[in-house]
Amino acid sequence: MRACARVGRAREDVLLLAVTKVFPAQVILDAYELGLRDFGENYVQEFEGKAPQVAGLEGARFHLIGHLQSNKSARAGELFQVIQTVDSVKLARRLEGMGRRVEVYVEVKLSPEDSKHGVMPEELPELVGAIRGMGNLELKGLMTMPPWSDDPESARPYFKRLRELAGEFGLAGLSMGMSHDLETAIDEGSTVVRVGTALFGSRKKT
Ligand SMILES: *Cc1c(COP(=O)(O)O)cnc(C)c1O
Repeated sequence: MRACARVGRAREDVLLLAVTKVFPAQVILDAYELGLRDFGENYVQEFEGKAPQVAGLEGARFHLIGHLQSNKSARAGELFQVIQTVDSVKLARRLEGMGRRVEVYVEVKLSPEDSKHGVMPEELPELVGAIRGMGNLELKGLMTMPPWSDDPESARPYFKRLRELAGEFGLAGLSMGMSHDLETAIDEGSTVVRVGTALFGSRKKT
């Protein structure tokens, strides 16, 4: 990725997560053919419909990047290898209770917008501590979504803050950056960029 070269980071240090929400399963199959292995989906129910068609893809990993309600946690735990949106002890306990290994990120809410999910930074010690005591959950890092803006620079303070928080907890994983602000995110240390539009085009219905 050019963005890595520009800021002096190795391509292998940043995972390109292909966000395939809204697109049909065929898009996942095509992207897999082209070499992509990590796919992000937002909705448990939507992915449930595509899952049978992509079940045979050797080495493919599916990440849930949308908000997860506790009552869908069991299904999510079966469908996804990585859940990036853990935001409560209750949800973590439910996933733990499935008895199946799953990688998780804690979603952090860094802006006061009501529409954003995630834990407040003050709640991180409790949630991180709880997850670390759970044998089935492997805590990889933190995830965030800054408030929407056309200007990628406006996301920079949020990316910096997430990196600081991850550092406080000794976490290496930083899931931050989308199509429009991925270069800023990589510059600030992102280890996972979640990219939909820049790979597959607009999701708007025509
Ligand atoms: C849709 C989505 C993305 C991808 O957004 P693009 O702008 O299409 O790259 C990334 N992260 C989350 C949480 C999303 O919901």
